[in-house]
Amino acid sequence: MLQDKLGRQFHYLRLSITDVCNFKCTYCLPDGYQCDTSREFLSLDEIRRLVAGFAKLGTSKIRITGGEPALRKDLADIIAVCKTTPGIKQVALTTNGFNLEKQINHWVDAGLDALNVSIDSLQPEAFKLITGHDKLVSILNGLEKAKALGLNSIKINSVLMRQYNASQFNDYLSWIKQHAYTLRFIELMQTGDNLQFFNKNHVSGESLKQQLVEQGWSSVIRDKAAGPAQEFYHPDYAGKIGLIMPYSKDFCASCNRLRVSSLGQLHLCLFTEQGIDLRAFLQSDQQQQALIEKLQTSLAEKTPSHLLQQGKTGITQHLAMIGG
Ligand code: SAM
Ligand code: SF4
Repeated sequence: MLQDKLGRQFHYLRLSITDVCNFKCTYCLPDGYQCDTSREFLSLDEIRRLVAGFAKLGTSKIRITGGEPALRKDLADIIAVCKTTPGIKQVALTTNGFNLEKQINHWVDAGLDALNVSIDSLQPEAFKLITGHDKLVSILNGLEKAKALGLNSIKINSVLMRQYNASQFNDYLSWIKQHAYTLRFIELMQTGDNLQFFNKNHVSGESLKQQLVEQGWSSVIRDKAAGPAQEFYHPDYAGKIGLIMPYSKDFCASCNRLRVSSLGQLHLCLFTEQGIDLRAFLQSDQQQQALIEKLQTSLAEKTPSHLLQQGKTGITQHLAMIGG
């Protein structure tokens, strides 16, 4: 069991498999992906050993993320490796959806249970302005395909920004009136790279919550392996809404997730000062016990809360680095 000194239990691992991304989201990689050092991301075997170690300690859900995870040619194999690890009940993927339409059948065949797609506008021009890519129509087709393939859990992530898409809140509501997706608004977070942008664009999650409650939305009860969103439903809408509010007072009290970067660094929080190297423990199957002990001792260092309210973003320059 992975449990920290505050009694928080960790059943949920977010695994980044690459930090490379092909989009230029205004709040994340506005100048596109830049890297001048060569490095190797976790291999399929390293991922298999990592996931098996976590699963032995009670992890039941893996979210594959990045960077853009769908840029890896072996994504379907990675999904299959996670899914066939004893103890893993749910494999989820967070993607910008650039090749969703073409690849979703392979991912579902490999065992994908849940899909999160980032869609920061439902207007093609605004989508292009935010991401640098004219991909909205293809992404929406990909979502329909995912649904037709029987994928039950499909969530849409959107970061509302004052200067870009905050005025499109009602577009999203009209959309989920007919479409049974869960739409999650992620409150814009400050990172090392985006301070000015953050100051101009941050929209408080609490203000969205208030609007929803005023319009008759009610809270859904939270499951132990659930993500960080507070979810809401409304009898007149086919879809649900989730709010991810990292600046809210008790956000960290219900933390149930750990992160491993694409280079095998354990991050106890998205905003820690440093990662803990696990790669040395992933080189052979015989190292599983050592990996388990490393995970257990590392957890002692998990802090009660991030310090985002004070503007302390740790080493996180942008979320593509560690995996949002
Ligand atoms: N490339 C994939 C995608 O965009 O879905 C996966 C990685 S991305 C870092 C994961 C999520 O983090 C996306 O939903 C994105 O909108 C969100 N994100 C990135 N930077 C953020 C920030 N500064 N504040 C809030 N959410 C952010
Ligand atoms: Fe890429 Fe995702 Fe960051 Fe957008 S949010 S730049 S898609 S990693």
